[in-house]
Amino acid sequence: MSVSSVEESEKASRSRRGVLCAKCEHLNETGVSTCKKCGGHLFVTCVDCGTRNERVLTRCTQCGRRLHRGMFEKHGRSFGKHIRNITPAHIFLYILALGLAFGLVVLFGNMSFSGLW
Ligand SMILES: [Zn+2]
Ligand SMILES: [Zn+2]
Repeated sequence: MSVSSVEESEKASRSRRGVLCAKCEHLNETGVSTCKKCGGHLFVTCVDCGTRNERVLTRCTQCGRRLHRGMFEKHGRSFGKHIRNITPAHIFLYILALGLAFGLVVLFGNMSFSGLW
């Protein structure tokens, strides 16, 4: 709880110089409603009290209601990142390790066979 409030106050202090884009983190001048860099919406209206909040904030400044289904979004994004971290080199190494293990099994199999005969 304390971590997220620190995060939010940090975001709020950053956004004082302008409106921070929730999508690309571009700092837009105050008074604009869409991001100049990516065109994303900078504000979100609270469904409970109708207050216009900056999209970077996770909770309504008036009533404290959650503005996004944030947790789910964040998890989805980090999961996607994990998948992108697996490079073709990783897959190659994995296959190489599998091949080596298989080769060793075959080798030992042959050796035990030759020992039996
Ligand atoms: Zn943007
Ligand atoms: Zn609200």
